[in-house]
Amino acid sequence: SMLLIGRLEQFATFLSNLFFQSQSLRDFFTVLDRKPEIEDRPGAIVLPRLRGEVVFEQVSFGYDPVQPALHDLSFRAEPGSTIALVGPTGAGKSTALSLLYRAYDPSAGRVTVDDHDVREVTLESLRQNIGVVFQDPGMFYRSILDNLRIGKPDADLTEIEKAVASAEAAAFIARKPEGLETMVAERGRSLSGGERQRLAIARAMLKDAPILILDEATSALDNATEARIQRALDRLTEGRTTFVIAHRLSTVRHADLILVLDQGRLVEQGKFDELIAEGGLFARLAEDGKFAPDAEVTEE
Ligand code: ADP
Repeated sequence: SMLLIGRLEQFATFLSNLFFQSQSLRDFFTVLDRKPEIEDRPGAIVLPRLRGEVVFEQVSFGYDPVQPALHDLSFRAEPGSTIALVGPTGAGKSTALSLLYRAYDPSAGRVTVDDHDVREVTLESLRQNIGVVFQDPGMFYRSILDNLRIGKPDADLTEIEKAVASAEAAAFIARKPEGLETMVAERGRSLSGGERQRLAIARAMLKDAPILILDEATSALDNATEARIQRALDRLTEGRTTFVIAHRLSTVRHADLILVLDQGRLVEQGKFDELIAEGGLFARLAEDGKFAPDAEVTEE
């Protein structure tokens, strides 16, 4: 499922394109702030760089009042840990992460980052602390270099090259006719899916946020590309609090905490071995090898 945050991020990327010549991230988040219900409170705090602790305290939320998408969700994510969200389509995984990114506010409970309620801080400083990498990241009809600088508008070439190398993108960029100056076709159509993902990883490396949101790829890539992307992601997530909508066995095995959601409720949480031993929903998902299956698959 495409997260709302993904669309926000794409929209943000689009806006940054408009502002690219002279402005910083602040400007396009200012425009994002037009979403009327989500705005800075008077006196909102500007967050410094976070350590990356994230706590949900009895959080509920519904897109419409009668049908809650999340009900009473509580968990704590330690700084630097990896949290895998699993559960059938519609379980509320994306919604939970939307509340962290503050695309919406909870109807009850609160979300805190390093003990700050996300409603008490500026949206800009919150979102500067959160990097996002989606399986189909937005790209613009601009150079590869400009697409990378969306992560950090004032990045110098040394930083860019370092991020590109960590993201395993150096070789394919070098093969493009004009290297970093090569134009990306509209919507990134001149790049393969694996290339777009690695540029998105490089962008997130440049942004260097302590909290990351990842939507793990479901689309099939060849083994070599997949291995490269995995190495790049391992480097990216190192030392950052990482929330991943998980599809792969290796991701859930290595997660510090797995949150199993079903119909808007947290039905199990723990580490892989504990949840397998519990023999509940997670164990069934693991048996099918599908951690975020389409709802009808689990319905029998
Ligand atoms: P998941 O990410 O686990 O697939 P979601 O968080 O996307 O689940 O969805 C949780 C529930 O909220 C589902 O019932 C879904 O239909 C509903 N939902 C998700 N996004 C929206 C939206 N933008 N407007 C209305 N309902 C939504």
